[in-house]
Amino acid sequence: MTYRVTLIPGDGIGPEVTSAARVVAEATGVSIDWEIAEAGEKAIHDQGTPLPESVLDSIRKNQLALKGPITTPIGSGFRSVNVALRQQLDLYASIRPARAIAGEGTRFPETDLVVVREATEGLYSGVEHWVDRDHTAAETINIITRKASDRVIRFAFEYARKNRRRRVTAVHKANIMKMTGGLFQTAFREMAAKYPDIPSDERLIDNMCMQLAKKPEEYDTIVTTNLFGDILSDLCAGLAGGLGVAPGALYGENLAVFEPVHGSAPKYAGDDKADPVAEILCLELLLRHIGETEAAERVFRAVWETIAEKKVVTYDLALPGYTQHPVAPSSCSAMAKEIARKVPLIDLHKPLPRPPGAGHAHDRHLEG
Ligand code: NAD
Repeated sequence: MTYRVTLIPGDGIGPEVTSAARVVAEATGVSIDWEIAEAGEKAIHDQGTPLPESVLDSIRKNQLALKGPITTPIGSGFRSVNVALRQQLDLYASIRPARAIAGEGTRFPETDLVVVREATEGLYSGVEHWVDRDHTAAETINIITRKASDRVIRFAFEYARKNRRRRVTAVHKANIMKMTGGLFQTAFREMAAKYPDIPSDERLIDNMCMQLAKKPEEYDTIVTTNLFGDILSDLCAGLAGGLGVAPGALYGENLAVFEPVHGSAPKYAGDDKADPVAEILCLELLLRHIGETEAAERVFRAVWETIAEKKVVTYDLALPGYTQHPVAPSSCSAMAKEIARKVPLIDLHKPLPRPPGAGHAHDRHLEG
């Protein structure tokens, strides 16, 4: 069987990291026919718009996309392509797993979190205006609906059940934002009652940040509104090892788009320097989504072994601050080739070595 997948190379380091993911995909033996769809700066240059209708049509038709990051032009009149894509395809659930890999790059090697973020409304609804003519005051409207809250919260519980997660925590600020936060809180409590097999609880956003910084291993699956989810997923990515290793997925009805948490890092564009791991782990999530579980597991383990071995890793994984034993950094393409080389050699029966201090969370995740 051949899967047809829309590939959006994106801007900045996007073309390099998506090429890296394709090299690894090839090594899995899963047959993928990539349909290239340009969005972002190249599309503005060639077609006068950052998000041509043909890109949306390609994703709707294939129901699957692997996406590189896209630059948000500042002050050009174009709104964020990423926000527009989510809204136009109604990609309502953004899933960002934050797993510490091989105990590297983190003070918390047991970190194994998943942030489920509502991705179509909230403070990112794009409804803003100046309050006065002199532009001394502005308002951004926070739109929270019961429908969008229900579906993302249901998604979080279904995800937790399917992936054998331990618990679902809702994050909000219902004590201050009594209507918007309160609506999300009520939706969560009513949905939680329908999933009595999955433990659930709630945290206020400020307390959640403090708790995650102190003891991330105590948390598991977090469901929250758009802005809080955006911030928390970067925090969790940092706890697990940094933006270079943080993948993400966006789900709608019968659609899934896989994209890293990181942006287009324009300062590294064309340098063959960026870490390809986040985009390669997006490929892993895509393979799991289409039921190619063995190929997905091979990709994850090849990434794990490459990072653990630390012979061929990019600058962010090689330098002091990330690792206790710095090494000479390799290029993005060299690291991708090394991961691809390992993919067919992976022994799936061999348990992964545990990072120091890692608990049961790692075993559970790797089974799932
Ligand atoms: P960024 O994530 O692009 O980069 C921040 C820093 O993180 C970089 O300077 C670099 O040091 C590091 N970094 C990020 N990805 C890396 C990688 N793969 N390997 C090694 N280091 C990496 O964030 P930014 O600078 O705030 O945003 C740049 C552009 O990307 C903006 O236009 C922003 O709007 C856009 N963006 C797009 C997406 C998306 O497409 N989903 C997400 C976030 C930001």
